[in-house]
Amino acid sequence: MTELHEPAAFRTALRTWLDENDLTPPPGEDSLDAHQAQHLRVLKALWDAGWMRYGWPESAGGLGGPDILRAIVGEEIVGRRLDHPGPYSMLEVLTPTMIDYARPELAAEMVPKLLSGQESWCQGFSEPGAGSDLASLTTRAEQRGDTWVINGQKVWTSFAQYATRCVLLTRTGGPDTPAHQSITAFFVDLDTPGISVRPLRTMHDVDEFCEVYFDDVVVDESRMLGKPGDGWQLAMDLLPYERSTCFWQRIAYLYSRFDALVDEVKRQGQAIDAEMGDAYLALHTLRCRSRATQHRLAEGQKLGPDTSIDKVLLAGAEQQLFDTVRNLLPGVIELDDTEWRTEYLYSRAATIYGGTGEVQRNIIARRLLDLGKE
Ligand SMILES: Cc1cc2nc3c(=O)[nH]c(=O)nc-3n(C[C@H](O)[C@H](O)[C@H](O)COP(=O)(O)OP(=O)(O)OC[C@H]3O[C@@H](n4cnc5c(N)ncnc54)[C@H](O)[C@@H]3O)c2cc1C
Repeated sequence: MTELHEPAAFRTALRTWLDENDLTPPPGEDSLDAHQAQHLRVLKALWDAGWMRYGWPESAGGLGGPDILRAIVGEEIVGRRLDHPGPYSMLEVLTPTMIDYARPELAAEMVPKLLSGQESWCQGFSEPGAGSDLASLTTRAEQRGDTWVINGQKVWTSFAQYATRCVLLTRTGGPDTPAHQSITAFFVDLDTPGISVRPLRTMHDVDEFCEVYFDDVVVDESRMLGKPGDGWQLAMDLLPYERSTCFWQRIAYLYSRFDALVDEVKRQGQAIDAEMGDAYLALHTLRCRSRATQHRLAEGQKLGPDTSIDKVLLAGAEQQLFDTVRNLLPGVIELDDTEWRTEYLYSRAATIYGGTGEVQRNIIARRLLDLGKE
């Protein structure tokens, strides 16, 4: 283990580097295009300096070391507001999946492109009729020689308009194969003929996610992730990452917004009241829980349904924080076109993305508390 694999030394060295290398976003640019450009710029700088390679295996272009090093990079970058938590989170969602499921040569070729900001990828799971009930997805892949032909539609695919590739879940196998055993994942180039991407406008007025259509899209068998029928397990293995390292940087972002709220409330001459205390407590509870999760991941433990607790706490803390903003800064959400308004509206999605609040509570009830069905 090199000196930099030790988390405290790593954090100190990274902070020094960030102080010496200004990655502040250009002022006055708040469009999604500007966020994406900044995201790629930050990744390139971090990759070139080595930071983005720690915590990833050497077989995929990394420099090794514990997973927790990635959580530190995410916390410092997103907590300093150098990148937005949404685009940054795609790294933690998709890279472990590629490393675990792609052919080693494919992972070695592709992972550095994502981590170095050469390109972005998206996650094509949800469909118009398959969100919470993901196992009912209908986008079909049929084998034709050494290739597979894909037809169907995905929806809510975050940042697909910027993505060059997609981790895609498809239905394979015949009508008699059980639903969970007939899902197969592919790593698809989005410039393949037959793919169209249509951005969708959200209520916070940003084209953050897309519909993606697949019409007779031919994908080589070498792009299959795992074996036919491994898709459900891939999805189950991906979601805990979405709720661990990925959350750590989102929590850092929420803390930075809590600090900004304290400044704003003080500037307006108001007292820091009990509601802010409650919002802080929710954030702190979330951070404590997530910290334990990062450590379990760093120890090499496999994460599972227990990360649903982290998801419930994250959604609750995020919404409580922006509810507090709405209550303490009257009119700023309803009347002003500010960042607070965008963030308040986006926080409503926290009980939906990565598995809804109701579904997480079902998982906790059934799989952790053994309370049986409904
Ligand atoms: C900001 C954002 C980004 C996203 N990004 C992506 C992405 O990049 N890729 C991707 O594939 N998907 C993405 N999604 C989609 C997300 O995964 C789905 O929205 C989510 O899984 C819920 O599915 P759904 O929207 O179809 O709602 P539904 O499953 O139709 O649920 C509707 C309502 O019914 C409730 N419900 C459903 N089933 C049950 C049940 N069994 N018990 C109790 N209540 C139930 C739900 O809790 C919800 O309130 C994103 C979503 C958001 C909001």
